[in-house]
Amino acid sequence: MSTVVRLLAELIAIPSVNSAFLPARHPHAGEKRIAEFIAHVATSSGLAVEWQPVLPQRSNLLIRLRPRGKARHTLLLAPHLDTVNVVSDAQLKPVRRHGRIYGRGACDTKGSVAVMLQALLTLAAAPARPATTEIIFAGLVDEESGQSGSRQLVAKPFKADLAIVGEPTRLALATAHKGSVGLTIETRGRAAHGATPWNGRNAIHAMARVVQLLTRDYAAQLQRKRHRLLGAGTLSLGTIDGGTQINIVAEQCRLGVDRRTLPGESAAWARQAMAGFLRAHGLNARVSTVKLKSCPALETDPRLPWVQQFLRLNRQPRGVGLHYFCDAAVLAGGGIPSVVFGPGDIAQAHTANEWLGISQLEQGSAKLLRFLKSLP
Ligand SMILES: [Zn+2]
Repeated sequence: MSTVVRLLAELIAIPSVNSAFLPARHPHAGEKRIAEFIAHVATSSGLAVEWQPVLPQRSNLLIRLRPRGKARHTLLLAPHLDTVNVVSDAQLKPVRRHGRIYGRGACDTKGSVAVMLQALLTLAAAPARPATTEIIFAGLVDEESGQSGSRQLVAKPFKADLAIVGEPTRLALATAHKGSVGLTIETRGRAAHGATPWNGRNAIHAMARVVQLLTRDYAAQLQRKRHRLLGAGTLSLGTIDGGTQINIVAEQCRLGVDRRTLPGESAAWARQAMAGFLRAHGLNARVSTVKLKSCPALETDPRLPWVQQFLRLNRQPRGVGLHYFCDAAVLAGGGIPSVVFGPGDIAQAHTANEWLGISQLEQGSAKLLRFLKSLP
């Protein structure tokens, strides 16, 4: 078993479910144990570690590989340490089968943690390390819920020439991703006895029209605006609830909409645009944003020298775009140009039988190491 494969197996065996998805003090909750394991691996290789408190018992882990000479540049390797919850405890036992490793986080994003850590450790043990570039591995907490790890990192402020965020991209360098805005739409009516519905005004009927207009006309409108790497923005209806009981005309109804945005479309803009659309169709609905569930889109200049260098070494004509969002947009918002790179496919993330191809893992650490070695 290669070192990076063994490392991933060890990481899967340490649960690090985001605390937001579990009851308080659940033994699987939080990134503390996995971060301590990684810190131990790093210090055993002679690297300096630092802790950055984010939430109670949850700290970002920073590992520094100092250059041979005076540091003039900084590269940040930034995977997150948390995972979504497991569907069964079997997901905490790494299983190797048919060229794959199965387990929670294999793909999202312990595979990237293993690739980045392994590349850093290999470089630390190599006779030559970059002359003037400091490489910092930042194991971030809380990506899967509130992204408070990446928010805290840039709040400091923290400067770097480039951040490579670890997420499954099938080893393609991504320079753009969509953003996400959580929206709630509310319609209101007037309650009446279910036997005399003509005395009331039904909020569910109004919402039925909202649903039809959004999924047909508004979705078609979104399709007409296309980004070169990301295609069109989308919407998905995630939740609906309304009324209080079966024999009362529904007085209110609420719809939860997941709106995936393109670069340049802020949460406030997405909210106003949707509210304006509904108004123009004669619908009196209130649209509001769900603050904690929003992340801006990412668009990083592909002409940046290190981005060009990575693309060239990776034999990629251009950066790719991702439909999902991640910490890259938060770091970019804090002034660090950010890209995304990691083994595996997002289609395997968050699934009941999450897995990662071993060839992706091994190629990933080789590709990243080649880039790290090319740094000044
Ligand atoms: Zn992830």
